[in-house]
Amino acid sequence: VVGTGYVGLVAGACFAESGNDVVCVDNNPTKVRLLRRGKIPIYEPGLEELVRRNRTEQRLTFTTTLAKAVRDSAVIFIAVGTPQGEDGSADLKHVLDVAREIARAMNGYKVIVDKSTVPVGTSEKVREVIRRETTHPFSVVSNPEFLKQGAAIEDFMKPDRVVIGAEDPRAQALMLELYEPFTRTGAPIMMMDCASAELAKHPANAMLATRISFMNEVANVCELVGADVHHVRKAIGSDKRNGNSFLFRGLGYGGSCFPKDVQAMKRFAADREYEFKILDAVESVNKLQKTKLDGQMKKHFGSLKGKTIGVWGLAFKPRTDDMREAPSIPLIEALLSAGASVQAFDPEAMRIAKGIFGSRITFATNGYDAVKGADALAIVTEWNEFRRPDFGRIRSLMRSPVIFDGRNLFAPAQMKQNGFTYYSIGRS
Ligand code: NAD
Repeated sequence: VVGTGYVGLVAGACFAESGNDVVCVDNNPTKVRLLRRGKIPIYEPGLEELVRRNRTEQRLTFTTTLAKAVRDSAVIFIAVGTPQGEDGSADLKHVLDVAREIARAMNGYKVIVDKSTVPVGTSEKVREVIRRETTHPFSVVSNPEFLKQGAAIEDFMKPDRVVIGAEDPRAQALMLELYEPFTRTGAPIMMMDCASAELAKHPANAMLATRISFMNEVANVCELVGADVHHVRKAIGSDKRNGNSFLFRGLGYGGSCFPKDVQAMKRFAADREYEFKILDAVESVNKLQKTKLDGQMKKHFGSLKGKTIGVWGLAFKPRTDDMREAPSIPLIEALLSAGASVQAFDPEAMRIAKGIFGSRITFATNGYDAVKGADALAIVTEWNEFRRPDFGRIRSLMRSPVIFDGRNLFAPAQMKQNGFTYYSIGRS
């Protein structure tokens, strides 16, 4: 498995857990050194234990040397990043570099599987790159990954479906064998052509992003008419045609996938002279939603100059340390440029946040520390530990008891009783 990020490390550990011998390759020597010592460079629940067990049983090893890993392997997964390029398209540089390196190291038939999120046509590009470098036989397979950070192992072990784009029977058989242990509960393995498999991923994320933006707009209308988005969401979601997932209002989507995948989807449609209009709206709603809390604060205080704001939650969602495109970043930047000072806490993302904000904000040791002397508290990520705080303690620590809750963790009536001025999303 090439690339030991959120996807590659989880995939490698899970394939090892089902009995395979797995070599995880990364060109970041610091990461590999950590992994070899049994340390996990990212936070993902359950991953450390899974990696430790499979390392101990010698089914899972780590290296920076791709060539040897390729020679020793029958199936090679490419799970490196596909970041957003300058024009919004997925940057395939890392995928194609790895494909080239794999080709140069091949010593016989190999199945090369693209697990990174890529636009349609990438398997063909990978095939071309490899063909140029080797005369050994090979198959290229497209196998998009649908796991979500925070529940990645559960998702990988018990997927809703496995999508495999493979056109030759030998590769199909190997992939079926590899995934069989994960689909015993009845989840389907969907075998299809490479183009369809490639196209399965971007629209899946774009649809989820659409639901988020849609519900944020519903929440904004709720505020205008005095309705409560919580009741509205339940009423919408209980209709089977709509379903309950991804109908939560909040501060907009973030993370390493939705923003870039929505962009990439738009881009490759545009390259074929198709304007994907809905996604323009999805993006502009999302951008606006990320300004929601600082907008509420400016309205409440008039000016934020000299105010101290406590921030709970920095990661783009709970159960991860990932801060890529997190709503906390534009919020904190807006607060700082309005002259406020920020004291922030996150259970897992502090190390990454320090790299982003340095000494421009104060890093608190826990949630209570973050509200000490604060004029307001902003709740940005809905970590479980923020759900049942000691409100009396918070009130006594704050300079003024005002909460801006971007995740609707509390009931407005309860907050009023507790003596807070309380702002939330989609509730008057
Ligand atoms: P990541 O940035 O966490 O990890 C990528 C890893 O690849 C890094 O460790 C990096 O050092 C390594 N790498 C880059 N170039 C390399 C090279 N030439 N040789 C060896 N290693 C190299 O990324 P991620 O979040 O794991 O995502 C990987 C892919 O999976 C992306 O295409 C992403 O869109 C997709 N994806 C991500 C998720 C998710 O939740 N993170 C879910 C589904 C799909």
